[in-house]
Amino acid sequence: MSEDKRKNDIAEGQDDGATKESRRDFLKKLGVAAAATTVAPAATAKAASIAEHLQTHFEMMSDSQKEKAIARLEKRYSEQFEKQVTVANTPAPDGVLFGYALNISKCIGCRRCVEACVRENNQSRGEEDTRHLPIQWIRVLEMTRGNDTFQLENWHKGSPSSSPIGDYGVQSGGHADKAVGISGHVEHYYEPEQVPEENSFYFPVQCQQCEDPACVRACPVRATYRDPNGIVVIDYNWCIGCRMCQLACPYWARRFNWGEPILPNEDMNPKTHYLGNRPRMRGVMEKCTFCLQRVRDGRYPACVEACPVGARKFGNLLDPESEIRKILAHKKVFRFKEDFNTEPKFFYYMD
Ligand code: SF4
Ligand code: SF4
Repeated sequence: MSEDKRKNDIAEGQDDGATKESRRDFLKKLGVAAAATTVAPAATAKAASIAEHLQTHFEMMSDSQKEKAIARLEKRYSEQFEKQVTVANTPAPDGVLFGYALNISKCIGCRRCVEACVRENNQSRGEEDTRHLPIQWIRVLEMTRGNDTFQLENWHKGSPSSSPIGDYGVQSGGHADKAVGISGHVEHYYEPEQVPEENSFYFPVQCQQCEDPACVRACPVRATYRDPNGIVVIDYNWCIGCRMCQLACPYWARRFNWGEPILPNEDMNPKTHYLGNRPRMRGVMEKCTFCLQRVRDGRYPACVEACPVGARKFGNLLDPESEIRKILAHKKVFRFKEDFNTEPKFFYYMD
């Protein structure tokens, strides 16, 4: 490539492989990224341009900087995925605090929510046994009926009687001054011919959008933060890939891109939001955002729409007439790992 073309590309933010490198490496060369020097490589060259390297935190950008950043991304994604990709910047609506409720007596463990989430949010289809793992933000845990897990009378026990099959797995109930709540065996990778299995019940877990999020407290660069609607978001361009948030999260809700995500062109959902489902890059963290790209437009999250038994409910916690407020008022409701004091806005309930 000629030097003139190269300079032109840099000016346009269309840098090629010769100048592409991770934001972290770029900053390192400038000598300003001491905190990031001991961690895994961040965003790959393919995903970056000089203009992106130099852009500031999304929250700190002026409107015109945001417009330029979004135009850059739309151009790059459209070329990369060979279709017209939009990157929205829809603001958080006023007077809304999003909350989620999941009926564990209804869930049948079919995992359609997981599939819908992967499709909607452009998660890496990945490859098993490589560093390009498939990424799924929702996990559905299978548990056996009949032990002491999730029986109402046990929810406030501080120390559990040990489960006949061991103490690993899920906790519920309990108090901050006690060691653990109730524990029981869980299975993530169940593959029966048919669900639900007779002696099982199912417990889906995803980001709980904590009001006092441990991940946000742990992030050294404020790449992750709580948005005005209470959804915890990640600025992917600002993430340095240190994985402190993953360590801090009690819910195993965050996923790290060890390799370049694998997202076939034909599978890519082109309707994206800057803080939501836009394609991620190697070396950054990701997680559920309650489908921010949908809910800021007044739509339901994809998992809510996909659930065939209506176990998933979503709405505005500030609206006393909303379905979610009625559930909180009239059902047996609990929050997962309450004793961590992260104040999830994700509620579990039973009929
Ligand atoms: S569940 Fe984990 S990732 Fe989600 S907000 Fe809470 S601490 Fe953060
Ligand atoms: S979002 Fe997580 S991985 Fe990214 S910089 Fe913050 S703590 Fe590190």
